[in-house]
Amino acid sequence: MKKQIAILGSTGSIGTQALQVIEEHPDLYEAYALTANNKVDLLIEQARKFMPEAVVIVNEAKYPQLKEALSDLPIKVYAGEEALCQIVESAPIQVVLTAMVGYAGLRPTMNAIRAGKAIALANKETLVVAGELINSMANQYHTPVLPVDSEHSAVFQCLAGEMGNPIEKVILTASGGPFRTYTMEQLRTVTKEQALHHPNWSMGAKITIDSASMMNKGFEVIEAKWLFGVRPDQIEVVVHPQSVIHSMVQFEDSAVKAQLGMPDMRLPIQYAFSYPDRVKSSFERLDFSKCTDLTFEQPDTKRFRNLALAYEALHQAGNMPCIVNAANEVVVAAFLKDQISFLGMSDVIEKTMQKVSYIQTPTYEDYVATDAEARRIAAEQLL
Ligand code: NAD
Ligand code: MG
Repeated sequence: MKKQIAILGSTGSIGTQALQVIEEHPDLYEAYALTANNKVDLLIEQARKFMPEAVVIVNEAKYPQLKEALSDLPIKVYAGEEALCQIVESAPIQVVLTAMVGYAGLRPTMNAIRAGKAIALANKETLVVAGELINSMANQYHTPVLPVDSEHSAVFQCLAGEMGNPIEKVILTASGGPFRTYTMEQLRTVTKEQALHHPNWSMGAKITIDSASMMNKGFEVIEAKWLFGVRPDQIEVVVHPQSVIHSMVQFEDSAVKAQLGMPDMRLPIQYAFSYPDRVKSSFERLDFSKCTDLTFEQPDTKRFRNLALAYEALHQAGNMPCIVNAANEVVVAAFLKDQISFLGMSDVIEKTMQKVSYIQTPTYEDYVATDAEARRIAAEQLL
């Protein structure tokens, strides 16, 4: 039986790499549903090649083009947000890969959990916004949430075979991004073009900006809390510019386990699909004669304030991480349109954290309201 996989965001960086994994293992995996926001041409091409049962385009204006282009094939074609939320419930689907960007991933992920689907989670924003809710739902419906983020996949791989051995510390590695060595003065004038040029990874625009500002690492700290059940003081970030060690776990006997490899997202994607097994791959192997220089530094939260803000949100808990996520989505979109400076992004996030009503134990409805309020308050500061 081939594993039936739904890819939410199949036209993106993670989505296209997931399709490469499926293509490499046609005996093991099948794309049951593919979805995209806007890129209809690529979605058509993917649908014709992978022959899924269904495709969804979120932008309804693109529906006629998609429908027409696939009219000779027995593929169901849907459009809109509601269709995206419903498609994950289809009975044959076993794994839902959440590879879309931002808060928009929350509702389809919740639906998939309710329908008992295993979640291969790339969309870290879902856990940042509503980690507590997602965890309790995953427990209630007995659905695994398998990490796709490379750091969390590394930790997850280090934990294999360690059942019952408590974690002392999770050590997340960070490349430091393109501005690792920049002074405050230099950071004041960096452009989106510079920020979009990540030294080690090729990713979607939003996460690339988050990596440059280190908000991505902050989000990964929050993600680690929910995935591995550790306290904030048990999560450490270490800057490791070569991105060879993908992350580590320290146990109570002082042993540190690490997972290493080339920076290639196909491995964590494939591991989430194949878990608990490992499957042979064609991915490039690490060549130790070429990585003779592995270095480590402390992160600088003065230059990269977003990391400190994310830790602050984690400590305050409640709806605070949801506030930070919403404000961050607003400022990143603005930065990509040259409407705010690189350092200005942290100012807006911090002010939004102060202004939005704090809720200690939010419900789903509270998250929806918080997200809207935080977006409004962050946007006001851009005017
Ligand atoms: P991307 O921008 O390359 O692709 C995003 C995909 O999601 C596209 O297919 C797009 O059509 C779809 N999408 C975007 N907005 C949507 C919306 N509102 N509704 C429905 N679909 C929407 O992004 P990416 O780099 O592939 O990242 C996807 C997710 O994976 C993000 O949450 C990111 O943080 C996470 N992630 C990515 C990487 C990476 O290497 N790219 C690594 C770790 C985690
Ligand atoms: Mg990561």
